Amino acid sequence: MSNPCLSSFAYRFFKDAEKVAQRVLSRLEKQSNGCWEWQGARINKAPYGYGEMHTEGKVMLTHRLVWLLLVGEIPNGLHVLHHCDNPPCGALPHLFLGTPLDNALDKVRKGRDNPPRGEAVWTAKLTPAKVIAIRARFKPWSKTDGVAAMAREFGFSETGMRAVIKGGAWAWL
Ligand SMILES: [Zn+2]
Repeated sequence: MSNPCLSSFAYRFFKDAEKVAQRVLSRLEKQSNGCWEWQGARINKAPYGYGEMHTEGKVMLTHRLVWLLLVGEIPNGLHVLHHCDNPPCGALPHLFLGTPLDNALDKVRKGRDNPPRGEAVWTAKLTPAKVIAIRARFKPWSKTDGVAAMAREFGFSETGMRAVIKGGAWAWL
């Protein structure tokens, strides 16, 4: 017997998916703003504010647990991001998969990219120094310094790398 609400991936990923789901979902509390906030421990080092839970021998972020349980696998290089920008939120409609760049673009699109922006918004993956180096290296269609090659090297989508090269989210550099 399996719970139809849970992803088939969850049954492979967790030893006891239903127990994990019960522990996670029972401690998300609906707020008046529509978010479902984690009522347990929060991460107290960067990135701050995410819910955390000890799960089958690992410490896991609760919004990632929600994704694994209800949607499925998180592909390599992608993060579970918040449309609502509320780190402890585990409301599924508020979550989406993307790169750190997608996250920055999402914030820009919502007009909430002023300050902190740039380095503070991204993970440590891409710093102003790296952005400048990428722009200096860029050669159209180059096998090593083209959009596709550098996207692979830095772990971004090609769309993301194009935005880095052309300015986009980093236009102030
Ligand atoms: Zn939310």
